[in-house]
Amino acid sequence: MAGAEVKVNAEIRDLTRIERIGAHSHIRGLGLDDALEARAVSQGMVGQTKARKAAGVILKMIQDGKIAGRGVLLAGQPGTGKTAIAMGMAKALGEETPFAMMAASEIFSLEMSKTEALTQAFRKAIGVRIKEETEIIEGEVVELEVDRPESSGVSKTGKLTLKTTEMETIYDLGQKMIEALTREKVQAGDVIAIDKASGKVTKLGRSFARSRDYDAMGPTTKFVQCPEGELQKRKEVVHVVTLHEIDVINSRTQGFLALFSGDTGEIRPEVREQIDSKVAEWREEGKAEIVPGVIFIDEVHMLDIECFSFLNRALENDMAPVLVVATNRGITRIRGTNYRSPHGIPIDLLDRLLIISTEPYTERELRLILDIRCEEEDVEATDDARELLTKIGHETSLRYAIQLITAASMVCQRRKGAAVDIEDVSRVYSLFVDVKRSTQYLIEYQEQFMFNEVPGDDEAAE
Ligand code: ATP
Repeated sequence: MAGAEVKVNAEIRDLTRIERIGAHSHIRGLGLDDALEARAVSQGMVGQTKARKAAGVILKMIQDGKIAGRGVLLAGQPGTGKTAIAMGMAKALGEETPFAMMAASEIFSLEMSKTEALTQAFRKAIGVRIKEETEIIEGEVVELEVDRPESSGVSKTGKLTLKTTEMETIYDLGQKMIEALTREKVQAGDVIAIDKASGKVTKLGRSFARSRDYDAMGPTTKFVQCPEGELQKRKEVVHVVTLHEIDVINSRTQGFLALFSGDTGEIRPEVREQIDSKVAEWREEGKAEIVPGVIFIDEVHMLDIECFSFLNRALENDMAPVLVVATNRGITRIRGTNYRSPHGIPIDLLDRLLIISTEPYTERELRLILDIRCEEEDVEATDDARELLTKIGHETSLRYAIQLITAASMVCQRRKGAAVDIEDVSRVYSLFVDVKRSTQYLIEYQEQFMFNEVPGDDEAAE
């Protein structure tokens, strides 16, 4: 790729990121008020007010650029909304902010090294906001937006459509239009002549349309008709792409389709180096800005010591995204070592993390979350059915109860019922076992399974 241009072309611009996180589709933010206090139920979020508030404070720090080189640890029992809070943070940061999400176990893949997988995840969480001037094609009808000064006596903003007669950037035309508007009080429909050599703008009036009139103006003159409509400021075309997307598009072996399949393989370090220096150049020229996003790593205790030292190093980078990790483990062994540590995370990394803990939900909160999920999945359910789901959620897990909603609604449809009722919920409850019942079953019938490691009564007694 030596000497070649780094591509950020149409292919990547049109790429809309595919939302895969259906389980959290109801989360639209952290549900905080202006004072960063958590509203009881807001933006799809219920309860967990302390954790949400803490997440809000961190969000503020991210927005103020004060959290570089640090991260957040969400610690709490399974199903207490750790992922939901991370999603809420991402949503609150806005569409432009990249959010990369991975489960730590994903790095143990045969296709790429662990550090490559982490590098890709990090680069998915670093956005590059690229400013571009619109290119126009000769003869094309373009919409131009220019600032119309108050003094011209016409409303300040609006759109202007004009036909280009030769290659010229909209920017130049825009500038000239502004000049013309200011000095000559040009109106929609007027023709103006712009002398490209001197930049002088002359108002020619509406009737100026005959070809010999044009000829008389000389070869360096450009004519523009201001069509009907108002004028406003030209908007820059801005798009945000992630470093990972730029990597993939410029990686010769892959091509941009790999972005859809996710089958990107390893990306050569030379490609990344070249992209980094190109991006640095763009930044210096004011053409691009870095948008540090959020990288969320779930089940972080699954990472091993090599990965943890990678994280430590990666956080030092000036483009580093905010690292949010989550775990439901207490004191446990750090993978790849014989040492035990809180959450299975080495102390030096823990030291960089702000810890937010999540708490188990009350029944009322569970009910509210289940109500939101019913609405999200467009499932009508009776009060009794919801009550039962809540009980199940309380006894087993929230996630299990949420999964039963879809299943119960299918059962309800089969019997052509109008709304999910108790019978549908009980039906799917008996069809799909939760973890507790599944474990019970395993213990009862352990002899019939292969690789049984649960000590039997005899062994346990020894
Ligand atoms: P694990 O430790 O097992 O990864 P978790 O703490 O990340 O669990 P989530 O996956 O966030 O738990 O929660 C389970 C489900 O409940 C998700 O669908 C999530 O969107 C929803 N949920 C959890 N907490 C809330 C909440 N406070 N408000 C609304 N929905 C929530």
